[in-house]
Amino acid sequence: MQRRNTRQRKLILDIVRTMDDHPTADEIFLAAREHDPHIGRGTVYRNLNLLVDEGAIRILKAPGGSRFDWRTDEHTHVLCSSCGAIADLPLPYDPALDMKAASATGYEVHSHYTFFEGLCPTCRKRQAEDSR
Ligand SMILES: [Zn+2]
Ligand SMILES: [Zn+2]
Repeated sequence: MQRRNTRQRKLILDIVRTMDDHPTADEIFLAAREHDPHIGRGTVYRNLNLLVDEGAIRILKAPGGSRFDWRTDEHTHVLCSSCGAIADLPLPYDPALDMKAASATGYEVHSHYTFFEGLCPTCRKRQAEDSR
């Protein structure tokens, strides 16, 4: 049983690492089923949580639901408010912001998420075509 668990966890990790678009748990489940038709939704969800706990992948608390990210370093995201696409943004993470938030609120601040919101290039193109 243990070996099967390890194999499934490796499969799910490999799948997340091939998906650059911050997939939902459901999208990962559908991709996993193409490799292993017998894999259950619960197995995929449980392994995703284990991988997050181990620090192998990150969970992204995005507006509209949780997404998964193979990048485990702190980085910034931009979200398309039309189709929900999420892309990475090459902006430096600013740890000083955590300290500012801590001294302003008295909270012990561990990290911050920055989400930019707008229209992705695909949706912009579609809108431009629709308005013609
Ligand atoms: Zn979009
Ligand atoms: Zn990301």
